[in-house]
Amino acid sequence: MHVQIATVTGQRKPADIAILPYWEEGKKIVAAFPKKELDAKVLALLEKDFTAKSGESLFSYTLEGVEKRVLLLGLGSLKKCEADSLRSAFASAVQLCRKKKLENINLFLPSDLDLSFVEAILDGLCMANYSYDALKRESLKDKPTVFIKKINLIGAKKEVEALIERNEHVMKGVNLTRDLVNGNADDVNAAHLTKVAKELAHKHKSIKVEVLGKKELEKEKMGLMLAVNKGATHEPALILLHYMGDPKSKDVTAVVGKGVTFDTGGLNLKPTGSIETMKCDMAGAAAVLGLIEVCSALKLKKNVIGVIASVENAIGRDAYKPGDVYISHSGKSVEITNTDAEGRLVLADAFSYVQKHHGPSRLIDFATLTGGVIVALGEEASGLFSNNKKLCDQIKQAAEVTGERVWELPLYPEYLEALKSPIADLKNSRKGRSASASSGAMFLKQFIEKDLPWAHLDIAGTAYVSDISAYYPSHATGVGVKLILEFLKSL
Ligand SMILES: [Zn+2]
Repeated sequence: MHVQIATVTGQRKPADIAILPYWEEGKKIVAAFPKKELDAKVLALLEKDFTAKSGESLFSYTLEGVEKRVLLLGLGSLKKCEADSLRSAFASAVQLCRKKKLENINLFLPSDLDLSFVEAILDGLCMANYSYDALKRESLKDKPTVFIKKINLIGAKKEVEALIERNEHVMKGVNLTRDLVNGNADDVNAAHLTKVAKELAHKHKSIKVEVLGKKELEKEKMGLMLAVNKGATHEPALILLHYMGDPKSKDVTAVVGKGVTFDTGGLNLKPTGSIETMKCDMAGAAAVLGLIEVCSALKLKKNVIGVIASVENAIGRDAYKPGDVYISHSGKSVEITNTDAEGRLVLADAFSYVQKHHGPSRLIDFATLTGGVIVALGEEASGLFSNNKKLCDQIKQAAEVTGERVWELPLYPEYLEALKSPIADLKNSRKGRSASASSGAMFLKQFIEKDLPWAHLDIAGTAYVSDISAYYPSHATGVGVKLILEFLKSL
């Protein structure tokens, strides 16, 4: 989609539709755009039937003007305006245009909006212009997917151009993440993630890739990653993407993603109702790839090491067994009390590898880790856990900007008591279902070196939503890419 600005309303080019935003002030409506070049008669009639509540829209044909159609779009109260409501209102406008096969839009930008709100509008427009069609065949012949090709932001100031350019790069990363998560689990395996990482390195000279295959993992004694992958036919891989945007600085952020390309639950097999969405268990890894792509495209002056721990948690005669003890890369032994608590195992080995070999300044991980976080927060927020207040606050602030909500959950010492094992240093899953999100995070914390600032984002509820919406038109959301990019900016 090509987005451009037209600073002067009267100089705009013909388009399929004009999107006209309105504010709701008390019981009155106020046009957020200059009306003079528009069909006054049609507007006057439409305004009678319109209250401008946030997300409300009214579509009509016009008799004169550069656009054949208009869409009145309600934005709610200007005084109470929030970035989130702008995102969803403009996302709905895009879906309506796509449904009506309108590909060229003149969008009248509400005048005098703060640039952060303009950024939210751009985000809503671009997030909505996405579909995952790679696996459709016959249905596409009758009903090809319509995408918006061009949006002209009418009345936009010159500085909006820089936001448009930035957003274009960001969306490439978000859409890469969404495509990978939406793809078939049989296709998007560790080898495929490795291929994507290498392609990124080929495209951007600023990225260097390091891959540890099964042999290297054995040599490094990454016992937990190897244990989880035992039942799988696909080989595991630990993939590291080094992006050094500021080579003079020693500050490096490690971003680790859980890359379980399919999670059957292992011998503690998941039941029907829980297993069908498990191709999304690599959403953390996909977000790492998306993030590194954006960092390079934007030439971000920060150093980032993306780490992907990729395995498949399969069943079969070779699958790792509940009750057995495996030795982690860090040397700690772990009793497997539940083979479905595998994400923390692969992350534990990835954590200790990156800390030992690359000494990061801080470590952030993304993982679709627990069902417990969905019970606690639903699909509305990611769980945030951290051992460092400053890092935690910076991530919360970044989330305020990007609209990817996070909610801090505790790491009480009692959660560690529940992970004590009579036969090993730790067990991977506590008894019962209490505090499972915190318990998973507490397990991870045992593999973080003392004093290293660390934050864990449990994205089990936010990475792959059950109900699609205008803003999230596919199950995969691409959560995390924008959030960590915004966080890196704040460093
Ligand atoms: Zn699992």
